[in-house]
Amino acid sequence: MSQDSFIPQKIVPVLVPMPAERPYSYAVPDGMEVKAGSIVRVPLGPREVAGIVTDGSTDSIDAKKLRPISELFDCPPVDGDMLRFMRWAADYTISPPGMVARMVLRVPAAFDPEPPVPGLRFAGREPDRMTGARARVLELAEDGMAWTRTGLAHAAGVSATVVDGLVTQGVFEHVMIPPRPVVAAPDVDYAKAALSGEQEGAAAQLVDAVSAGGFSVSLLDGVTGSGKTEVYFEAVAKAIEKGKQVLILLPEIALTQQFLDRFHDRFGSKPGEWHSDLAPRMRERVWRQVMEGQIRVVAGARSALFLPFQELGLIVVDEEHDPAYKQEDRVYYNARDMAVVRGHIGNFPVVLASATPSIESQVNAGQGRYNRIKLTGRYAEAAMPDLKSIDMRRSPPRPGGFLSPALVEAINRTLHRQEQSLLFLNRRGYAPLTLCRVCGHRFQCPDCSSWLVEHRFRGQLVCHQCGHHEARPEACPSCGTLDHLVACGPGVERIAEEAEKTFPDARIIVLSSDLMGVKRLRLELDAIARGEADIIIGTQLVAKGHNFPNMTLVGVVDADLGLANGDPRAAERTFQLLSQVTGRAGRTGKKSLGLLQTYQPDHPVMRAIVSGDSQAFYEREIEERERSGLPPFGRLGSLIISAATRVEAENHARALRRAAPVSPQISVLGPAEAPLALVRGRHRFRLLIHGTRKADIQGFIRAMLAAGPKERGSVRVQVDIDPQSFL
Ligand code: ADP
Ligand code: ZN
Repeated sequence: MSQDSFIPQKIVPVLVPMPAERPYSYAVPDGMEVKAGSIVRVPLGPREVAGIVTDGSTDSIDAKKLRPISELFDCPPVDGDMLRFMRWAADYTISPPGMVARMVLRVPAAFDPEPPVPGLRFAGREPDRMTGARARVLELAEDGMAWTRTGLAHAAGVSATVVDGLVTQGVFEHVMIPPRPVVAAPDVDYAKAALSGEQEGAAAQLVDAVSAGGFSVSLLDGVTGSGKTEVYFEAVAKAIEKGKQVLILLPEIALTQQFLDRFHDRFGSKPGEWHSDLAPRMRERVWRQVMEGQIRVVAGARSALFLPFQELGLIVVDEEHDPAYKQEDRVYYNARDMAVVRGHIGNFPVVLASATPSIESQVNAGQGRYNRIKLTGRYAEAAMPDLKSIDMRRSPPRPGGFLSPALVEAINRTLHRQEQSLLFLNRRGYAPLTLCRVCGHRFQCPDCSSWLVEHRFRGQLVCHQCGHHEARPEACPSCGTLDHLVACGPGVERIAEEAEKTFPDARIIVLSSDLMGVKRLRLELDAIARGEADIIIGTQLVAKGHNFPNMTLVGVVDADLGLANGDPRAAERTFQLLSQVTGRAGRTGKKSLGLLQTYQPDHPVMRAIVSGDSQAFYEREIEERERSGLPPFGRLGSLIISAATRVEAENHARALRRAAPVSPQISVLGPAEAPLALVRGRHRFRLLIHGTRKADIQGFIRAMLAAGPKERGSVRVQVDIDPQSFL
């Protein structure tokens, strides 16, 4: 510093999309101005990658190894709240900060502005000679708006040479047209819904929260069809009015065309969409336009939380209980919980909406941390469906079938009234298990510990874990006997087969995510809504988001299905799913019926659904959670240790277990072989960390990982804080 000739080189930490524990240091070239949040291109080994300049100190680094930033992108910096959020997310989930940055940066072409396209604009001069074609062109362009050459010719219905002629005469001048916004700005006054009294009261509370600003969480708790969407749209309108950006998270965004239409009905334009089915070019545009503030409202899947909003002022999490909010890939996080954190960091309100809130949110509302807003009735004259269980012990299906006489009769009555029935079974394919009747051989995935599921439409046996598939053989591979393979249990395809036999004149559609792409599904859902099917057989994707006006019967083929899997949330999940599915019926005022086929009609879940007394069910579940110290009364973390061989995985898991610190508040369970002991050829063990509500689970796990053996060879350790899955 004392020598004039010595100019200290500026060094900054950069988060690169890598599983590194710390940011890497880079030199800032002369004349480049970077700050925390700047998006830059940096060399990384032999490659160049995009990274985010972060704040904080840099590691000391050998000057010879120090490499300069290659480029500062022409892009606004990620804002300070977002940087804080990223840091928080990495800390909380025990993920390398670079992997969180990677989630922000997965839009390679969006860091430079989209280039303007060449266009033409009316220059104010009349052509020397007017023709009909020229008049049509001028009529369109006279207001001075810029057009592309081909766009203008096409719109005017003339050949491009007509336009060229006008250019030659100086009637049009060349201009550059900036990239167009992917969606128009929402208009808060476009078509405000006339809310019912109860809806009005709920909306007012949300609007107040947005007006007041500051962090708050509201739990919008209303039965299916009560108009939660209409209600939170008013909060969205308020936030837009305040000049804020809004994020609406939806669990199954790719399938919620209806949601986008409803948004359009209310605001006169669609929201920006964000999900994994967007074309890459569109993803990049949406990302860039969110960053630049052109897009004011995003409707997105969980990953939309990592979009670079600059003025975020409200997040709505619709169907907040939905398990799809949990990401279990690289960075394991729950988008519902992260949304609340994002609101806290950005100091703005968060709305959680559900007909069947998660136990966590129920408890938070019960203890006053969240503001509970109730909607008790369905909108307008629509009544809730009449719900009944069918005791399968007393009313069994005919041999080889899965539909009880009572359900068959209800479907017949519905067909007779020319209304729609939904048969729900959360199992893809034809049969979940295939075995040989002679030797008992079961078809299992070679790489996973799961049975192969027969998909008869595709003629294959498929592993639902890894996608492995093989043709269904004629002969048993074990004993060689021909034609003695039997399908055990039903999947949707098998129910469809039974329905086709039982109701030969009905139009039947099977909806299952494996049978069609998102585009097809959207079309099918629209067709159903228009009444083009009588019986719809589907997995859980039919439970979400769609309103079928003519659907008056919902039959749950196997209501017990989710109860038997040893997951502490099994009852809660089953309750939520069954409420949601049966809630599909009778949305538009017709008398409707929900029937649950069950072997356990006295199970608390069935009772709660049939009686409509969800409160008693929740109270009981909450009590049970509290007694066993499970979330939200205690904390869980889980470590999944996997390796190419069973012994490596087990040894590593045991060594980690031994490295666990001693804590009066935290205990370690396991290692135990995971219920899914083998996935994609990797053997899996689990450790479960259970702590009290105040326990520092993350600190404990970090200490364990630091003291234990490092990942080496084929061994991988995945941390899952607040695990949802125990498989
Ligand atoms: P939820 O999200 O609570 O299940 P929705 O918001 O989907 O309920 O509303 C159910 C149906 O009732 C939708 O078709 C919706 O358009 C209609 N609806 C609800 N409230 C109103 C309202 N105030 N005005 C007009 N239609 C409404
Ligand atoms: Zn497999």
